[in-house]
Amino acid sequence: MPVITLPDGSQKHFEHAITVAEVAGSIGPGLAKAALAGKVNGALVDTSAVIDADASVSIVTDKDPEGLDIIRHSTAHLLANAVQELYPEAQVTIGPVIENGFYYDFAYKRPFSTEDLAAIEKRMAEISGRDLKVHRRVLPRDAAVEHFKKLGEHYKAEIISAIPAGESISLYGQGDWEDLCRGPHVPSTGKLKAFKLTKVAGAYWRGDSRNEMLQRIYGTAWANEKQLKEYLTRIEEAEKRDHRRLGRELDLFHFQEEAPGAVFWHPKGWALFQQLIGYMRQRQTEAGYLEVNTPQVMDRELWVKSGHIESFGENMYLTQTPDDRVFALKPMNCPGHIQVFNQGLRSYRELPLRLAEFGAVHRYEPSGALHGLMRVRAFTQDDAHIFCTPDQITAESVAVTQLILGIYRDFGFEDVRIKFSDRPAKRVGSEEIWDNAEAALRQACEAAGIETTLNPGEGAFYGPKLEFVLRDAIGRDWQCGTLQVDFNLPARLGAHYIGEDSQKHTPVMLHRAMFGSLERFIGILIEHHEGKLPIWLAPVQAVVIGITERQEKYCLEVAENLKNQGLRVETDLRNEKLGYKIREHTIKRVPFLLIAGDKEAEGRTLAVRTRAGKDLGSFELKELSALLCEEIASRGRLVLEDRVSQRRSA
Ligand SMILES: [Zn+2]
Ligand SMILES: [Zn+2]
Repeated sequence: MPVITLPDGSQKHFEHAITVAEVAGSIGPGLAKAALAGKVNGALVDTSAVIDADASVSIVTDKDPEGLDIIRHSTAHLLANAVQELYPEAQVTIGPVIENGFYYDFAYKRPFSTEDLAAIEKRMAEISGRDLKVHRRVLPRDAAVEHFKKLGEHYKAEIISAIPAGESISLYGQGDWEDLCRGPHVPSTGKLKAFKLTKVAGAYWRGDSRNEMLQRIYGTAWANEKQLKEYLTRIEEAEKRDHRRLGRELDLFHFQEEAPGAVFWHPKGWALFQQLIGYMRQRQTEAGYLEVNTPQVMDRELWVKSGHIESFGENMYLTQTPDDRVFALKPMNCPGHIQVFNQGLRSYRELPLRLAEFGAVHRYEPSGALHGLMRVRAFTQDDAHIFCTPDQITAESVAVTQLILGIYRDFGFEDVRIKFSDRPAKRVGSEEIWDNAEAALRQACEAAGIETTLNPGEGAFYGPKLEFVLRDAIGRDWQCGTLQVDFNLPARLGAHYIGEDSQKHTPVMLHRAMFGSLERFIGILIEHHEGKLPIWLAPVQAVVIGITERQEKYCLEVAENLKNQGLRVETDLRNEKLGYKIREHTIKRVPFLLIAGDKEAEGRTLAVRTRAGKDLGSFELKELSALLCEEIASRGRLVLEDRVSQRRSA
């Protein structure tokens, strides 16, 4: 007679075997209604699963992550059910749960249209409304193969044939529709209420381009309408901000097939890129870094010694020269910086030595993983390596952490989380070295007074790391900066210094990056600001617009004057309507439109308009340029608009 232990430790005694649903019912009618599945001794099962021995049981509802997965999985079945009701010739294949939703691949004679999706979604709602009980039965493998063959479901039959002969196969169904599945599922279709089909795309059977093309329908599903709506709004927001589209619209960069994962920067995008470099160079110089530059291509042997070939080889580009030497494109800058350190005899007096490089690196990523600027194969790191003594680790780590947080604030990121990543499975160096490195980094976190969350097994192959995660304007997290403590690489590559004791010592190396990848950071900035970059970063900071050609000379003078003060300014003297010009530059997200008609040209003033459509009134050129320069120097903290309203109300 089963004794059921509940998550709070309490126990329930039953006289006979019971189902998960009955356990839920014995706790309360609310839970019985909310139950989607159960967890029996850690295994997920249907609410109809029978428990006939002592067990620990918890009830899974839509509040649990597993519950949400079960909803999504069951909604994929609901989709397949609807498709086969509407298009009986369509064959089912597979339908897994993915992030925020699910997809299902169908074999059908033609692609599904947007109208088809609407019809399918409507039918899904109908089947949900029928509130059909979800049933499960088990067949021996061969019987299951026969069963699906008879139904004309050749893909299912093929999938089942690949399962070992002795095994039995579970089938899940609702009404008279049935599919192969391991489960578990929601108890009835009525539990599936908040879903939406999002898109349809072609996909090859088993992901192999030699196979036939299937129709993949994507959808999202949630516990309730509110969650669904929030998600759809989030997606809409993210699409509005998509840096790939904005990159095109703002003429910043492009990609093309000849260089997968590598950016073609256009003049405006490159201006932004150079702003970041200039800014970082200044901050680093102030913080005592020295900038270096090391080769793109170095002998493979160096990468064998450093351990990169062993631990990172599958991401590296190799190249062979006509003299039969094999070289690698650098995936990281660290070994190069050690070569610089190794030139000449180093003394402890030179430590900490902070070497920085805007290092262009190449890392192979599968083409399916590439995503605009966010995931590329060629990128530029704002990389630095601090060579120091063990005693200096704490102070240096604290300084790096403070520098990173200060820099993020300048870019408008106030919400930063820090993760602590410890030793990964694939690593170099003894356990003792790892113990020391992890302890040193923990100590630095304590000294800096920062809180971290543990990210187990996610450290670099040569050392533990801190990861700095930014939260953007729509609540998405982006890992950017890192700080890694490394007791391994310097020894592997023969770095040493002469200590106070006149003996040779191996330095510790701190690897750190703040933006991480400049390309990716620009992608994040574009999406965070929806392309409306703060004036200090905007590729074009102001456009001087003439209303008629009579103002041409004055507009050119104004632009020249502002350019001489270091502003990035364009003129628009085209013979177009003013409204048209304003609209165009607003779409291009130029922060300020400086408009001149006869009155302005005569009075040597400008009518100022923001990209948000605000009319700030008339300014004398000298006053305006001073205000703009101050806003730029303050990195957007002093806002012209606010200062104008203050000035006018004073
Ligand atoms: Zn299923
Ligand atoms: Zn490094």
